[in-house]
Amino acid sequence: MSDSTLTIDGKNVPGERSFGVINPATGQVFAEAPDATRAQLDRAMDAASRALPGWQADLERRRKALRDGAAAIRARAKEIAPLLTREQGKPLARANEELAGTAAWFDYSAGLEIPLEVVQDDADTRIEVRRRPLGVVAAITAWNYPLMLASWKIAPALLAGNTVVLKPSPFTPLSTLALGDALREVLPPGVLNVVSGGDELGAWMTSHPIPRKISFTGSVATGKRVAAAAAPDLKRVTLELGGNDPAIVLEDVDPKAVADRLFWGAFANTGQICTAIKRVFVPEKLYRPLVAELALRAKSVKMGDGFDPEVQLGPLNNRMQFERVCELVEDARQHGASFAAGGKPRAGGGYFFEPTIVTDVKEGTRIVDEEQFGPALPVLPYRDVEEAIARANATHYGLGGSVWSTDVSRATELAGRLESGNAWVNQHPVALPYTPFGGSKWSGIGVENGPWGLLGFTEIQTLIVKKR
Ligand code: NAD
Repeated sequence: MSDSTLTIDGKNVPGERSFGVINPATGQVFAEAPDATRAQLDRAMDAASRALPGWQADLERRRKALRDGAAAIRARAKEIAPLLTREQGKPLARANEELAGTAAWFDYSAGLEIPLEVVQDDADTRIEVRRRPLGVVAAITAWNYPLMLASWKIAPALLAGNTVVLKPSPFTPLSTLALGDALREVLPPGVLNVVSGGDELGAWMTSHPIPRKISFTGSVATGKRVAAAAAPDLKRVTLELGGNDPAIVLEDVDPKAVADRLFWGAFANTGQICTAIKRVFVPEKLYRPLVAELALRAKSVKMGDGFDPEVQLGPLNNRMQFERVCELVEDARQHGASFAAGGKPRAGGGYFFEPTIVTDVKEGTRIVDEEQFGPALPVLPYRDVEEAIARANATHYGLGGSVWSTDVSRATELAGRLESGNAWVNQHPVALPYTPFGGSKWSGIGVENGPWGLLGFTEIQTLIVKKR
């Protein structure tokens, strides 16, 4: 049985059954997590629904609860971070950063204003455009940043006056259940419920009659299923999905000067970032020097168990993802690719794949066309910049993209032509609490973060008052 518990209606509720959680550094099960039943999900949804009127009544109380939430997360961070490292694989220092970011998102959201616009106010008529909460929000997250992604949803959803039922990925349930524990101390019963289980639990949530909104982070394939499940009763959706981000390096760049930033833009979190650099476009004359710089870094970075303080990159999070990266690299090899670094799994157990720089590869090969979500980066030469932009945009994805140059105004103009929700110059990626983050095309619907993200947890009410 699991030591971790669900949070339902303000209580810690043990699972009636459980599933194993694997440490990706060893490939071995190290703990059990509760596998919520449908009846437990129903209780969580009912509790969230009952909590709505009380929670919506007082904005200042909600602000205070979120600030107390940030403090509660900080107070438990030293205990939750090792859990995150053990189930996710990331180095402990990065897990600590994720906890700090999660608390920071709560603090930031506590200060958001819910807009009220007065569009007419004269002797006869007053017209207000108000923002009402939607109701119960079903929040579903991926395994790469389980806590951070949860905070992007629950903090603004709660500030706006919604209540939440949150489900983490089955690969990383424990840190989110612990987050539920920490927040139980400061939130009224039913306001935040945390349930864990398999993918079918997510499907039950999206087809459940109670939630009015689904806030989802995950793959494009699942995102489409979520949108279809939400359609019959017109639940609102925010979908934060996958990407295949291009970074376009211009010919005026010194490869040595940008190699560190490009490398970490692609390999941080072992490449498991939705907005990681997943394709690099390089002018022909810079191709070999830049590949050499990237390969140098790929060969010297320290990969291993996240509890080793020297380690910079952990394993891939799960067997499925590990096998996917193996498969894409093997496919590239069969299509004539070479590897300036890496190119194979690391021996010795765990889901480790060597940091890999893929060369002599083109569009039409899976590692270029699909989202690898792992430590293998294709580097693609181009002749002229118009061609690079066209190739960067020739995808169903549209999450992020970047242009790299010493000529900042030219790079800015080109970055604006990328068909993506996020565009950057001389950096990649960036996520901030106060700027909107979302994808175009198949990378998503809606945005998270900042006042724009908050609006996604509200709906407009136009209130027209005839004064006489
Ligand atoms: P996934 O789609 O397999 O799973 C995501 C979540 O959905 C999990 O909690 C899972 O249990 C749940 N789920 C699975 N099937 C479901 C269904 N039918 N109905 C409802 N929920 C269901 O994705 P993943 O492998 O966990 O995450 C990796 C993907 O997430 C990558 O594509 C990555 O780019 C993307 N991602 C996007 C963002 C973003 O902000 N745009 C951030 C992080 C990750």
